[in-house]
Amino acid sequence: MTSPQPRSKISLKSVNDELPEYTVRVSDRAKCVRLSISVEDGLEVVIPVNYDHKKIPEIVQKKRAWIVRNQLKLAQREAFLQSQAPHELPDRLNLRSLGEEWHIEYQQIATKSRAITIQESKAQLQLTVKGDINDVEACKFFLKQWLIQKADRHFSECLHNISHRAKLPYRAMTVRSQKTLWGSCSRDRNISLNYKLLFLEAAVVEYVLLHELCHTVHMNHSDKFWNLVSKFEPNYKILDKSLNQAWKLVPAWLDLQAL
Ligand SMILES: [Zn+2]
Repeated sequence: MTSPQPRSKISLKSVNDELPEYTVRVSDRAKCVRLSISVEDGLEVVIPVNYDHKKIPEIVQKKRAWIVRNQLKLAQREAFLQSQAPHELPDRLNLRSLGEEWHIEYQQIATKSRAITIQESKAQLQLTVKGDINDVEACKFFLKQWLIQKADRHFSECLHNISHRAKLPYRAMTVRSQKTLWGSCSRDRNISLNYKLLFLEAAVVEYVLLHELCHTVHMNHSDKFWNLVSKFEPNYKILDKSLNQAWKLVPAWLDLQAL
């Protein structure tokens, strides 16, 4: 009679060998396989058209250490946000990029439409949120819209100036709400910027804008790309590194919003 291996050992091994769960996305822009991890989509394998799907498990297997490391990073970030998130409405917004700290007041007003309005007093840097302020989610939603508009105005101007100075033209700019991306640049030279950059220091924001503008020339992070960045911002390494922790400056209630 052969003695079978202890069951526990077998099952442990099979758990370890199991590939992490992932989804596959075919992209007509992708030139090679790319892995990405985000809160929204989990682990995603982006493959070029006509790519042999059979090769995917092996790639995921090879990248296992990277995947585990990044999944852990994401989990730690979520835990931090949960621990920081206030359950009540915010009373201030520190827009470091503008050097403006806005105070927020709330006024309960009965309205038929349950609409929320935001009144802005620029001289005092004060926002007054009026309406059914017991509807916390609605208040947050409108505050976020106010921030997006603010980001749109401010970043349009900044990007225009930096583009002009560096002689790096772009096609259009949009402000978006991304969970893990500060900015991106498409092949058509359209630049997307995260409105949460408003909460970062001005020097870091300028670096992000410059970084995306340099992608209009090099769509990668090659040496050529970094040489171009360093031409305009010799301090780019420190600034780029600071982005890893910069999300801590963004109020947790914004990141946890399902808006
Ligand atoms: Zn980049």
